[in-house]
Amino acid sequence: MNTPPVQLDALVVGGGIAGLLALDALHAKGCRAWLVEHQALGCGQTIWSQGIIHGGLKYALGGVAGSAARSVSEMPQRWRRMLDGDGSPNLSAVAMRADACAIWTHRSASSLAGLLGAKLTLQTRPTKWSAADRPEALKGITGQVLRVAEPVLEPESLLAVLGTRHAPRLVQGSVSRIETRANHVDVQVSVAGEHVDVEARRLILLAGGGNANLQTLAGASGKSTQIRPLRMVLVRGPLPVLNGHCIRGAKPWLTITTVASDDSQRVWQVGGEVAERGATASEADTISLAAAQLSEALPEISFESTEWATYDAPRFEHATASGGRPDLPTVLDEGNLLTGWPTKLALAPLLSDDIAARISPTFTPLPAPAHWPRPTIATPPWMETCRWSNAPSDAPA
Ligand SMILES: Cc1cc2nc3c(=O)[nH]c(=O)nc-3n(C[C@H](O)[C@H](O)[C@H](O)COP(=O)(O)OP(=O)(O)OC[C@H]3O[C@@H](n4cnc5c(N)ncnc54)[C@H](O)[C@@H]3O)c2cc1C
Repeated sequence: MNTPPVQLDALVVGGGIAGLLALDALHAKGCRAWLVEHQALGCGQTIWSQGIIHGGLKYALGGVAGSAARSVSEMPQRWRRMLDGDGSPNLSAVAMRADACAIWTHRSASSLAGLLGAKLTLQTRPTKWSAADRPEALKGITGQVLRVAEPVLEPESLLAVLGTRHAPRLVQGSVSRIETRANHVDVQVSVAGEHVDVEARRLILLAGGGNANLQTLAGASGKSTQIRPLRMVLVRGPLPVLNGHCIRGAKPWLTITTVASDDSQRVWQVGGEVAERGATASEADTISLAAAQLSEALPEISFESTEWATYDAPRFEHATASGGRPDLPTVLDEGNLLTGWPTKLALAPLLSDDIAARISPTFTPLPAPAHWPRPTIATPPWMETCRWSNAPSDAPA
């Protein structure tokens, strides 16, 4: 006898930050929603990310305003409420890397005055950071150092908090068939070698690099995703804690974040221009470029006893006509099939608002069977088998 399909208001595919926050918002609304993850939660962009809750620095640097800039500028405060336990979801258990980011220039003579007087009313408007209060790593910077209240969180911890809270609704499995009908979508999910039939009123693809294949499986065009290749640099050793951006011209040039840890063997994630150039360069050349840029940006820091590695971390965004970066999250609504891209981790709550506003509950919440496997949390790149090498000879000693 055939088992009847599981009826859901929504089936979310992909357990990165976009999928987990969408599941959270749908569940909070009373919807019967499950999430299917085929590898590990956040396995892709979320675990690769630097965890900065951006508030629109790039708009401030360009001196532009507008609705996108306004929406982005509200994100640090929205996340702050969640991280303080005063917003929904409650993220007070998430480990933090920093409360604020530092901004400094690569040449002491350059001025950050433009940022202080940014035309945009940034809710996270930068303020001067006195030499006494600023991070240890920037004490020796002779030029101006600014503080911008953009919190930096630990992505692994964020995934763990949301993954634990929603474990009853998470399924470790893969989607093998998608057929869109007039009022629902028939989805076949493989769970621990078994085929499970799901009848979902809405199928929501929030699978980052997996969206294109899933859209094709659903008979839609898989051409709505654009890929931005990046190669990030990791530096490991007795480094100070540093989270912020070194600015060159009107752009963040180097973005450095420090993995939260108590020991002196710290890991820096280094992105920015080097990660863009690294995407088409060898690993050794990328590390040499990062070493040269870090020595210019932080002349007082010694990298003598450090080890270096890189990891490939492409970004998947909704394709724009110009090929440029989108400013805000996007949802493509094709009947009962929704596909979403948050654009940034910081903007994922806006995407989950948008998705939850499109779906109303018709069934009561239901956990997935207790004996089904649940996805684990993705492993950060510095814990994976990265090839570490000694500091390049041109790194500052
Ligand atoms: C190097 C780097 C640094 C970044 N730093 C920041 C930052 O500091 N601040 C910021 O705001 N943003 C940052 N971002 C952007 C941010 O990480 C992404 O916008 C965001 O994490 C995307 O989340 P997502 O859930 O859409 O995708 P992902 O995190 O990629 O998650 C997709 C999930 O879907 C799963 N999946 C894929 N295919 C399938 C399938 N067929 N079936 C089931 N599951 C599937 C994957 O395993 C994965 O778990 C950074 C990105 C990169 C690459």
